[in-house]
Amino acid sequence: MRDFIPLSSDTETRPTPAMREAIASAEVGDEQRNEDPTVLRLQQRVAELLEKEAALFMPTGTMCNVVGVKTHTKPADAVIADWMCHIIRAESGGAALASGVIIEPIETARGIFTAGQLDAAIDRVRSTPIPYSPIPRLVCVEQTHNFGGGAVWSLEELKAIHDRAREHGLALHMDGARLMNAVVASGTPTREFAACVDSLWIDFTKGLGAPIGAVLAGSHEFITEARRYKHVFGGAFRQAGVAAAGCLYALDHHVKRLADDHDNARRLAEGLSEIKGITLRWPAPESNILFFDVDGLGMDNKTFYARCLEKGVRFSAVGRAVRAVTHLDVSRSDIDAALEAVKIVAEEPRR
Ligand SMILES: *Cc1c(COP(=O)(O)O)cnc(C)c1O
Repeated sequence: MRDFIPLSSDTETRPTPAMREAIASAEVGDEQRNEDPTVLRLQQRVAELLEKEAALFMPTGTMCNVVGVKTHTKPADAVIADWMCHIIRAESGGAALASGVIIEPIETARGIFTAGQLDAAIDRVRSTPIPYSPIPRLVCVEQTHNFGGGAVWSLEELKAIHDRAREHGLALHMDGARLMNAVVASGTPTREFAACVDSLWIDFTKGLGAPIGAVLAGSHEFITEARRYKHVFGGAFRQAGVAAAGCLYALDHHVKRLADDHDNARRLAEGLSEIKGITLRWPAPESNILFFDVDGLGMDNKTFYARCLEKGVRFSAVGRAVRAVTHLDVSRSDIDAALEAVKIVAEEPRR
């Protein structure tokens, strides 16, 4: 039994009974020695999906970013990324600790930037001659963009960044925590997004609903080096097939249904926009995330969060806004129930 409607994050998904069965019956071996058959199968499967030479099973998406940045850069290099990306805002400064890089942020509305903005960022990094300036080495993009309210990079937008990064001799890394949401939302084949970048990863613990795991992909050379850093950072597993089995199950059964999450996010956004005092940050959600402001209700987001939780709905308070994320464990009727609860909170006399 659950205590509330879990709208705070798509990491709140719990493995379904069928996924648990797949996990329970997984064949396993020693992953550190490359002997876990289920992990090998998952890596193969993701490499094929992304049309990359090789793939590597990782404990978390965060470790994919930490290892990805480490593999592409040398200490004191510059990495260019949008200013609200997960690498800057939500990884405890891991890129600084592990890679010793400086990050040149690009100010964007929703995490999507243009080739012109990339040029300007490179110019800032190179505003002094060598040896004064750091060396720009890597560009990072986030698909979909979490703090940009699930904004989807279109293939055209991504291609433009790919082309410009190539011209400047920079590597391109994609934080694809929700790449499959972008694929389902846009109808663009996964491999076409993947072809734009040198390395990328997908997370299995977000909307795909598995309990553990992410997979990083790239060239043979990149993945060989990344495997070493995975070990350095203590991320090499033993019988990880139990986790990989959940991920394989998710690839088979939980990708297409992401469309339901996107429908539910739109339904929630429509309902919220009809409640006086609530303002959506951005119009219709592009995928499964939405942000809204509650200042018009005469309360701050933390008070709103607490009142909704009392009514059985858990959002999250991010910055000054409220975030809602739809996923496998949120049904259409949950959305309607959540909207009823929010209406009551909005109309309640102020305490
Ligand atoms: C969740 C998330 C991560 C980190 O993934 P974990 O598997 O939770 O470590 C990285 N980037 C983005 C955009 C995310 O939403």
